[in-house]
Amino acid sequence: MSKNTGEKRAERPRVLTGDTPTGRLHLGHWVGSLENRVRLQEEYECYFLLANMHAFTTRAEQPQEIRRDTIEIVKDWLAAGIDPERSCVVLQTETPAIAEMTWYFAMLLGYGRLMRNPTIKTEIDVKGLGDQYSFGFLMYAVGQIADILAFRPAYVPVGEDQIPHIEMTREIARRFNQLYCGVDPHAEDADAVKAGGVFPIPEGMVGRIARLIGTDGKNKMSKSLNNTIMLSDDEKTVQKKVNKIFTGRQSPTEPGDTGNALFQYVEAFIRDDEMAAELKRRYAAGDNIGDGEVKQEVGRAINELLAPMREKRKQFEGPGGDDVIIDVIREGTKRANTVAEETLRLAKEAMGLGFFERELGIG
Ligand code: ATP
Ligand code: MG
Repeated sequence: MSKNTGEKRAERPRVLTGDTPTGRLHLGHWVGSLENRVRLQEEYECYFLLANMHAFTTRAEQPQEIRRDTIEIVKDWLAAGIDPERSCVVLQTETPAIAEMTWYFAMLLGYGRLMRNPTIKTEIDVKGLGDQYSFGFLMYAVGQIADILAFRPAYVPVGEDQIPHIEMTREIARRFNQLYCGVDPHAEDADAVKAGGVFPIPEGMVGRIARLIGTDGKNKMSKSLNNTIMLSDDEKTVQKKVNKIFTGRQSPTEPGDTGNALFQYVEAFIRDDEMAAELKRRYAAGDNIGDGEVKQEVGRAINELLAPMREKRKQFEGPGGDDVIIDVIREGTKRANTVAEETLRLAKEAMGLGFFERELGIG
């Protein structure tokens, strides 16, 4: 990376977001966040985090799978258009400032406040964790606050399910700024840094489709729920999975509900507006149109979207592919540590912990 590019980077507002390596990426990731990330690279300094530490909060007994998924997710990112020359791919476990900040932020977040976070409640429910979740599972929510704030970003592109986490992040950033930097509690969020705060108050940015329903027609499409269409699925698999989308409709002449899961896919993936409108009209009228016909069109549209990604992914699938990916991770994480260490230094100074300087290195 030339010095020039480095200087140019510093002028652009930052974006931070990421994925947990609990499986490969799916269409929910694309419409909820990934599509925005690819676009934002043009104008922002982007950091894309591999939240592998968080994968351990629900899969501690599967370290090899977490390692594999970490690498596969980077392949998905690059295939989808993330450019590692412009954006940093960041490995959470080699960005120690995040773990340190998690500890400090944990003190600023009430236990009751955390347990009222609706996303945590839903996750405990849909992932069937019951009361068996680890202490570490709850820690991930604090950890995510540190993931974000370590990069002092302006925006965080996420799916709708993450908005409660962003809200908590904003609360903690305000709290830290007031408590340790003397920022006036009445200061506008937009002026947080001008008013002396270490942390800007970041904004969530939800994608085109806030919450894509899974092929079960019911829950959010989610890696952990087996209701996904993967970005790396082949054509036949995509069509097979689309054919499974459950609507409960009985006959092609029955007026259909165009607010159902299948039509969310029409809206998300059929880019030919006229065709989408015509399908919708005929479906609503029960104009001799079966789910099968709609599913064919949806499958075709998804395959059109995924074809270039499949092609690009091939580059990393042969021998040596993983090594290329690990190099991308190493380079991105190096650059990311410069920013995260600077944030930590500023935060610790504000907290009266700036005893002396330190420097970390990645080989
Ligand atoms: P897990 O089941 O392990 O929680 P996940 O499928 O929910 O996995 P995450 O890694 O938690 O995936 O989410 C990564 C990003 O993708 C987040 O910003 C999240 O909001 C977004 N996202 C995930 N699933 C969807 C979806 N179905 N619709 C829209 N956005 C989504
Ligand atoms: Mg999730």
